Amino acid sequence: MATPLIVNVVELLRWPGTTKGVVLSIASADLEFGESRISDEPIDVNLHLEALSNGVTVNGTTSATWVGECRRCLAPMSDRMTVELSELYQQIPDDSEAYAINNDQINLLPMVRENLLLAIPLGPLCREDCPGFCPQCGKDLSQTACSCDNSVVDPRWAALETLKGSLKDPS
Ligand SMILES: [Zn+2]
Ligand SMILES: [Zn+2]
Repeated sequence: MATPLIVNVVELLRWPGTTKGVVLSIASADLEFGESRISDEPIDVNLHLEALSNGVTVNGTTSATWVGECRRCLAPMSDRMTVELSELYQQIPDDSEAYAINNDQINLLPMVRENLLLAIPLGPLCREDCPGFCPQCGKDLSQTACSCDNSVVDPRWAALETLKGSLKDPS
């Protein structure tokens, strides 16, 4: 697959200190996320490459829109995120974190994809105090109130409350 994220670095590697900018907006499909947590809105890439004597550093940002659902009320959620990244590409990697330079080319795609996937929030909340569902009647408490008494939710406390009640009971 032809991708604008493959950059030839022959010139760069010849003179350490040389820099190159990679500023692109690419189709989400081109990153082949293979899953639905990234929306099909374009991926923005704004990277700065700099040649070292033993590789190329890549610094900058990439932005994408993630999609998911509130972990409490399951409302659909979506937000634009911008990830800062700082990576190293080497011809002969001596750093375990480094990506490989193959045939004088660096492929930014797997690196950008990895950074974006790691940045997707795992348990997002539609709002900080989202009440979620009522544990007793199952109503969506962000939409409607219910009359259940949810002041006691932990079963251990519930057992204690029952005990207290029976101690107070005069019979
Ligand atoms: Zn929610
Ligand atoms: Zn309820």
